[in-house]
Amino acid sequence: MKIEVTLGDITRIKADAIVNAANSSLLGGGGVDGAIHRAGGDTILEECRKIRNRQGKCKTGEAVVTTAGNLPAKYVIHTVGPVWNDNEKESSELLANCYKNSLKLAESLAVKTISFPGISTGVYGFPKELAAKIAVDEVKKFQSKNIEKVIFVCFGDENEEIYKKLLRE
Ligand code: ADP
Repeated sequence: MKIEVTLGDITRIKADAIVNAANSSLLGGGGVDGAIHRAGGDTILEECRKIRNRQGKCKTGEAVVTTAGNLPAKYVIHTVGPVWNDNEKESSELLANCYKNSLKLAESLAVKTISFPGISTGVYGFPKELAAKIAVDEVKKFQSKNIEKVIFVCFGDENEEIYKKLLRE
């Protein structure tokens, strides 16, 4: 798997699957979640509603998939990141699960390219360096047959530098 780091808006970057840092309601929110629903259109929210009606809320660390609506992608994978709460071990495991479960879902859908935002590093307050390390570790650990490229989309110079430094190491 090739790993790429890009600076920009995840809704503008082409990938087979775009990962959304959703909240457990699956009904949209602010930050990257808001941007994805705005740019993707109503079909994404309609599918999220159906999933909710079927299985209830999405648990932290888990992932579900919908169509990508108007986004330059086939799928949106919605995963719920942990709210940082000073229990570093628990938060780290839950964040690792987000990456693992999103990659598993992508693999099952025969996705070739997948883009990730910095899950939990906005309003959910996860320390950016630790979050990036977990993201890179989980991607490197993942055994994939189908996924050819993983794109870490950074929304600000700070994250871009953090990821680039980690990948140089
Ligand atoms: P969370 O609630 O999981 O912390 P946020 O949406 O608040 O989610 O932030 C997650 C990360 O996504 C942050 O690093 C934020 O800067 C970034 N982000 C916000 N909007 C976009 C966007 N349009 N494209 C890519 N990343 C974004």
